[in-house]
Amino acid sequence: MTTTTTTITPLDPAPARVGIAAPSADGALLGAHSADHYADLLHGVVDALAERFRTVDAPSVGPDRAQLAARVASTDLDGAGVGDVEALRELDDLYARNAVWFHHPAYLAHLNCPVLIPAVAAEAMLAAVNTSVDTYDQSLVGTLMERRLVEWTAGRLGYAAGDGVFTSGGTQSNLQALFLAREAVLRRHGGERAELMPRLRVLAGPAAHFSIGRAAQLLGLAPEAVQTLATTADGRVDPERLAEDLAALDAAGDIVLAVALTAGTTDQGLIDPLRPLAGICRSHGAWLHVDAAYGGALLLSERRRGLLDGIAAADSVTVDFHKTFFQPVSSSAVLVRDPASLAATSHHADYLNPAAEALGPEAEPNQVDKSLQTTRRFDALKLWATLRSVGPDRIGEMVDAVCDLAAQVHGLLEDAEDMEVLPRGDLSTVLFRFRPAGVDEEEADRLVPLIRRILMQSGRAMVARTTVDGRAWLKLTLLNPGTRVDEVTAVLDLVRATARGLLAGAALAATEETR
Ligand SMILES: *Cc1c(COP(=O)(O)O)cnc(C)c1O
Repeated sequence: MTTTTTTITPLDPAPARVGIAAPSADGALLGAHSADHYADLLHGVVDALAERFRTVDAPSVGPDRAQLAARVASTDLDGAGVGDVEALRELDDLYARNAVWFHHPAYLAHLNCPVLIPAVAAEAMLAAVNTSVDTYDQSLVGTLMERRLVEWTAGRLGYAAGDGVFTSGGTQSNLQALFLAREAVLRRHGGERAELMPRLRVLAGPAAHFSIGRAAQLLGLAPEAVQTLATTADGRVDPERLAEDLAALDAAGDIVLAVALTAGTTDQGLIDPLRPLAGICRSHGAWLHVDAAYGGALLLSERRRGLLDGIAAADSVTVDFHKTFFQPVSSSAVLVRDPASLAATSHHADYLNPAAEALGPEAEPNQVDKSLQTTRRFDALKLWATLRSVGPDRIGEMVDAVCDLAAQVHGLLEDAEDMEVLPRGDLSTVLFRFRPAGVDEEEADRLVPLIRRILMQSGRAMVARTTVDGRAWLKLTLLNPGTRVDEVTAVLDLVRATARGLLAGAALAATEETR
């Protein structure tokens, strides 16, 4: 037949399917009629992924970016669709096949962790149930469970009372913490907001996460409002200089919005000396925020929790569960020492959490009162599954394992004649670079980004790169407690071979130029 008409006639079967259980469940919403299809489809996805975990032999297959871009661009997103099974099969081939595998022992780049299986299962649960922990009437037990985990975390910090809320990540936790600090300081000073705002200052160490500066900008502060604190020679914020800086700000008529310290800097894993710094903040009346996105899990380590000594004096703390608690993205929390300080976040909407109700005897425990988000994932469920499954001590041991591994790798690099290494931090990163005799600082700098890119393109190993005091360094972030030291040295050998190849290529090019 050559007819070209596309008019839907009453004989077309499609309209008749509307509103009833489709014979094929493709396109079905998850519900009673589609429960079998849901189970089949997800079992298939889990089986395919399990096979990838069984067989993946490198952090990535080293896909060509232009080819990936072409495949992504050429996928038809406007057609009728290929059905659920085929769509998921396609994703296994396009996404899973070309993904980065953080569990692989040669993945040593960023703060991405391998994930605990009970947490992954809980992630599947919370996605299917689709709870939103904004109001009690949308979550019921979910709200109570999240509150219990906030209390648990506050207790681990050493807060007598404390409160907080789960967030999407450390970036959002830092933003909310500084927002609460801003509101607290403006309330305390009284007077005109417009007059006070230009006088507000955030003090942070030089290696504070960039989200601190961006939060300050989002909160309406000028770029110069973020002042960099002096450090001691080891790179940690210097308590004596903090005292001087606070006094100088007072003298200038400026107002401290917050002192933002870091418990585990992203690059070097340095923990600022929290107890002495907290004492200075306290005597000055300055809000202390501690960004423990990376180092927070040390609270669970028998051997290392002393490194966070003093954290209980912080007014607010950021903890990322999706880093050192081995949770799937996203899972983070902001905690506050004084539960009343969270009130600045509250907004009462008539349709959601009316103010009158919040005061009455029937008040419901609405988490939206404490969050910058409205609709919000029930990420807490993953941490709950983890704590019930393996307990916090096990997480502490896993954190110790990666810190111990970093110490071991650091020792090897110190002994290596062809490598330069920065002093050891407190957590699980190692910063180093290839610099044998005859390679000067500038050449070592030039090699760093090239080595990272060549390794990434090969897919065989992934390392990160960063800059410290103007010089380029390769970075290993060790977050897999199952990784053995020989697996890391294999990556170091790849770094060496790559660097030698680059140097040989450069030497060859130089001789050809002089010909
Ligand atoms: C990772 C990190 C952040 C940002 O957290 P996200 O979860 O990536 O938003 C903030 N601070 C520090 C110290 C970090 O290491």
